[in-house]
Amino acid sequence: METKAINKPMDSPKKKVKPPKPVKSVASRKLFAAFFERNRLSFTLALILAAISSADNSIISWILGSVIDAIGASSRSGLTRAAIATAIFLPAYLIVDSLFSIIKSRFVHKGIAQYKSAAFSMLCRKGIGAFSQESTGGYLSALTNDAASIEENYLNRTVSLVFNVLRFAFALGMMLYYSLIMTLIVIGLCLVPIIATLAMGGGLTKREKTVSDKNEAFTSRVKDLLGGFSVIKAFKAEKQANALFNGENTDVEESKRSRRAYSGILNSLSGVSGGVVQFGIFIIGAIFAINGRITAGTVILFVNLCNCLIGPISVLPEIIASRGAAKALVYKLADKLEDNQSESGGEPIASLERGIEVKALGFGYEEDKPVLHNLSYRFEAGKKYALVGFSGSGKTTLLNLLMGMHGSYTGSVRVGGVEINEADKNSLYESVSLINQSVFLFDDTIRNNITMFSEFPNEAVDSAIRRAGLERVIAERGEEYLCGENGVNLSGGERQRISIARALIKNASVLLVDEATSALDNETASLISNEILALSGITGIVVTHRLEASLLKKYDAILMLKNGELAEVGSFDALMDKKGQFYSLFTVQ
Ligand code: ADP
Repeated sequence: METKAINKPMDSPKKKVKPPKPVKSVASRKLFAAFFERNRLSFTLALILAAISSADNSIISWILGSVIDAIGASSRSGLTRAAIATAIFLPAYLIVDSLFSIIKSRFVHKGIAQYKSAAFSMLCRKGIGAFSQESTGGYLSALTNDAASIEENYLNRTVSLVFNVLRFAFALGMMLYYSLIMTLIVIGLCLVPIIATLAMGGGLTKREKTVSDKNEAFTSRVKDLLGGFSVIKAFKAEKQANALFNGENTDVEESKRSRRAYSGILNSLSGVSGGVVQFGIFIIGAIFAINGRITAGTVILFVNLCNCLIGPISVLPEIIASRGAAKALVYKLADKLEDNQSESGGEPIASLERGIEVKALGFGYEEDKPVLHNLSYRFEAGKKYALVGFSGSGKTTLLNLLMGMHGSYTGSVRVGGVEINEADKNSLYESVSLINQSVFLFDDTIRNNITMFSEFPNEAVDSAIRRAGLERVIAERGEEYLCGENGVNLSGGERQRISIARALIKNASVLLVDEATSALDNETASLISNEILALSGITGIVVTHRLEASLLKKYDAILMLKNGELAEVGSFDALMDKKGQFYSLFTVQ
């Protein structure tokens, strides 16, 4: 969501404005819950194993210290004790550590798979209108790049966070047990790396967010360039396409470089300060040992345990920062998903008997630029209407409004007596089918593209195939023929006929057809138009550029739009007799 400039204090430009805390929306709660759904056992086990395995370094330090003290005291029994402890520790360590890796992977991968599933299922509940205004590249990036970052930085690092906190606690506990004064010295020496790394942690969160934004722009660009590949080739725009690609590519890699470099500096800083602490404790410990305050073994134990303090101190701020950054990615996706989740709920459309009524309808994509003005008409149930008019007169916009794609209209659009803005969208999509100018086909069989992966009796599929004029294609290639990515293995006409069959098999009461016959040859086109006209009991609203008298005569009414207004309405003969605007359009054609 954009932060309005008004919120910034004008008189204190240097004062840092804290980014608003993410609001725990319903969508974000659902997304976070998805990580742990039927995954709590793995999560709990992973934490328990992390706790056990975090004690490993403390035990090793204790064994080392015991060995040094046993050597110093020439104690055979001490050495034997240390050897027995090592013999027990090593296999136990191997088992615990292996189990830890297995369970952690199970938790992380199940969690991220469920997260992606939940996000996609929420995405599917979006309205067509809301989705069509958004960038699909953003969602692609969220479900690929961002998901990978969330997997590593949120799920994996949540377990690492517990592991490191406990490793720190064990080491501190053991230090306190052996020498309070030495422990206080270690803590004093550790203050510098703690402050330095904490101060730098925020910078990492900022860089992680930039990487996500750049990834989103890059994914959108690649999607666009690949989608327009044939246009690029046909217009010899390869150089420009390369320049566009390289622009985004450099940007995203530059943001990653900045994040990696920053993280590297953070690591070096903690590495160096860790070395200083370790060296300092070695020298101070040696002085204490010479003065007889502690044993040589305790010095080694402290030097070794320093790793268990410095390690967590150096990684914890980074873990916390990148966990925060990954959580921000979840909120970012939740925000997108939350917008316009108005699919279910609302008034169901029980029957289409009352037809579709449009009253004083006005709509514009942009403010002050109306596309439709004061349009009123009643489409009666079961009748067939042709929408004609010059390009840009608002025909597609009207169909989209009838499909509930744009909520910001003025006036009223009632489908089956229910105002479309208040209608349950699922029931609207059940009643109304849209056959579009651009057909989308899935990279699957013809049958699955017709049935949209639902179960239908063979007779229903056969009937849709026959009515959409697909019989010959099926006879030649079979229902299981693969259409290819977006139907590349089929002609434009065949793709159109599949989309018509798809709408017919759904048995919707209203069929909205937008130039659906534009990719068909004249003969097939009039066959299909006739088929749509012959569908009894179905209300048909067909946008057509094919002004053929024989076809137009079959419509109950022709609506002519001009500059977003209903210029003329009537039967073909009436409009021709009137010799008005439709007559001019028809004769020009
Ligand atoms: P037709 O189907 O009659 O050719 P449209 O309904 O597609 O006309 O378009 C009507 C007007 O709305 C045109 O001026 C077009 O440029 C504009 N328009 C269509 N879609 C959009 C959109 N998504 N955003 C902004 N303007 C649009």
